Amino acid sequence: MRKNIVAGNWKMNKNLTETGDLIGELKLKLKSYTGHTEVIIAPAFTNLFYAFEELRQTAIKVAAQNMHQENNGAYTGEVSADMLKSIGIDTVILGHSERRAYFNETDAILAEKVNAALENGMTIIFCFGEKLEERKSNQHFEVVAEQLSKALFHLSEEQWKNLILAYEPVWAIGTGETATPEQAQEMHAFIRKQIADQYSADMANEVSILYGGSVKPNNAAELFSNPDVDGGLIGGASLDSESFVSIVNAFE
Ligand code: 13P
Repeated sequence: MRKNIVAGNWKMNKNLTETGDLIGELKLKLKSYTGHTEVIIAPAFTNLFYAFEELRQTAIKVAAQNMHQENNGAYTGEVSADMLKSIGIDTVILGHSERRAYFNETDAILAEKVNAALENGMTIIFCFGEKLEERKSNQHFEVVAEQLSKALFHLSEEQWKNLILAYEPVWAIGTGETATPEQAQEMHAFIRKQIADQYSADMANEVSILYGGSVKPNNAAELFSNPDVDGGLIGGASLDSESFVSIVNAFE
């Protein structure tokens, strides 16, 4: 079901002590939170179990930043959906541009990861978005359409109920350069249209589409006020409790 979501992708930041501190602050600041925005944080693998236990009785959900497509086997250094599920984690970020760029995750591999996550009953925050040169050469719609169709359009309508999309233009990630509210809305409407054409308008209307890329307290409200922007996937600003909570409150 379409809902407003603010998710913090902590990336490779915060050791166990720092994770504890930030979670403590978030718990305190969101203790009396009564809004309708779903709040998710994605700490590093090593801190997931701790984060899950700490946030068990709260409205804050915990997600993983990645997983392997196989359930087990000789894949040194990897973590599977089954392992995540066994510690209570049922949401995973897949397809982040950093995974695509530095760890060679292709659309084909991502389709396998998506299948594995869904087979294990997980919810996916699926990231995609064009690079700077692709936007400059006016290929951004084409690139996004291809990323969606190659990794997600083999899924059934039923399976889409467990998908959250996150449009993250690579040129806006960690650069301080945000897509304008108009650019975000234009792309989000395009994404919804792609889903409507492939499946149905009713189904497209049910999908939450988040924007990611230099979302900060001072630009969140304007970005989120667009009809097709259902929230944000936050990097840098999610590492500070005051900034993150202020972005969560940007919906109110
Ligand atoms: P920044 O908010 O730091 O630009 O990162 C966005 C992001 O990559 C979230 O997944």
